[in-house]
This record gives sequence, structure tokens and C-alpha cells, in this order.
Amino acid sequence: MAMVEDLKRMIAQAGNIVAFTGAGISTESGIPDFRGPQGVWTKNPLAEKLSNIHHYLADPEVRKASWQSRLNSPAWRAKPNAGHLAIVELERRRQLHALITQNIDELHQLAGNSPERVIEVHGTMRRFMCFGCGMRGAMQLVLERVRAGEADPHCRDCGGILKSDTISFGQQLVPEVIDRAMHAATEADLFLAVGTSLQVYPVAGAVELARGAGARIVIVNAEPTPFDRVADAVFNESISAVLPRIISGRESAARSLH
Ligand SMILES: [Zn+2]
Repeated sequence: MAMVEDLKRMIAQAGNIVAFTGAGISTESGIPDFRGPQGVWTKNPLAEKLSNIHHYLADPEVRKASWQSRLNSPAWRAKPNAGHLAIVELERRRQLHALITQNIDELHQLAGNSPERVIEVHGTMRRFMCFGCGMRGAMQLVLERVRAGEADPHCRDCGGILKSDTISFGQQLVPEVIDRAMHAATEADLFLAVGTSLQVYPVAGAVELARGAGARIVIVNAEPTPFDRVADAVFNESISAVLPRIISGRESAARSLH
């Protein structure tokens, strides 16, 4: 295991960093995790039903509850934390090749990462989509209708059912998005996994691809992951504390090599 100074140097020297983020970085911005030990779904099985696509499409009551849940999501008030900002710093230094995220809150983009660099494998809650015609648009447009009294708003063009443009339980991942994530992983010289248990496939396979292609692996997560043993460094601490510490000071880290 690398010491912090070695790790800072390793990060400072990387030219093609691929970051992979999960719920853990968002919980530090006040957005609850759904699957973790303290997760919303773990504590309330009804909440999981709300996010199952089959129930959603079949049951207007499930959709009404979902729209209320979207309206009141803590994500609308959440702000990026020091962990998000540290990843922005990697992009500013032109070291960030890609940012793969399981999060749907767009806090990375709000923090300042370029949208074209962010690969959202589970979609985004800030956009809606229509099951009838495939139209997409800003979620706030539909939430305005919910606020105005429409309990289960449908598409104004085709009458279809609307939902957030995210991957619900029972829905397929978008193959093009997953392919893009996997391809980016093979181009990494350093793979930085943050706030993810690395247990959900196929995206967890990105770690194996990166490692197979020779990348260093750095993991920052509250709980152990199946990849800890093959990682070059593992931190089971606060993300917003660790990332600024290991990412800051590229110049000084580079200088200390001489
Ligand atoms: Zn439509």
C-alpha cells in the first residue's frame, strides 16, 4: 500500500485518470444513499417499489408518489462538496480522461466538470423522458406541472407516461453509455474509484478492465470493496477529506521527485 506522499506523486504524474463515483460522494452533500446499510430502500421496502419500472408503468399511485418524491428530493438543494471540487481540479490540470458516475444528481457538472467528460451510467434526475415518444427535457418543466396540481403529468405531445431520465430497477442500462465507460476504463493510467462499493455489474467491471490495461487503482470508500486487495491504495475515510488531500499540490509533488 502506498503512503499518502507516494500516492500524491502517483496522482500528480498520471496523464489519463478515470474517476468512477458512486453514492458515497453524494451522501457527503446530504443526498441519501439508496442501497447502503443506512439506505432508503434498505429501511423502507415501499421506496424500492417506487423505483421499480414495472410498478411505475402499471400503477398511477406509484407514479403519483414518485412525482412527490422527485419534487421533494434533497438533491435540488444539495451542493457539491470538497470531493467533487477535487475531481474538477483534475480536469483543470488536464489529467481527467473521463468521469464515470452512478449518481443521477449532476453534482459533478455543478461543481465544474465538463458535461462531455461525465458518463452517467444511471442517467440524470435533472431530465425527464417520455415512454411514448422518447422526448427529453428539463425535469423542472414537469415538476412545475406537479406543483400546479397535476399528480401524474403525461406527455403533452403524445400522452405518454413521463419519468425521470434515470435507470430504474427492472430497466436496461443504455449499451452505448456502458460501452463508452468501459472503453474509457481501458485508456486509464490511474483509476480512481470513489464512494462506490464496486459490487454492481457491469460497471464494476470497469475496474478489472482498467487494471488489466495496467492502470494503478485507488479506492476511496467508507466500506471495503471486492477490489481492495488489488488496489495500489485504499482509503476508508471521508471522501471530502481524502480527495483534496491526495489531489492537491501537483507542482510540489512533482518537484519532490528530484
Ligand atoms: Zn411523448
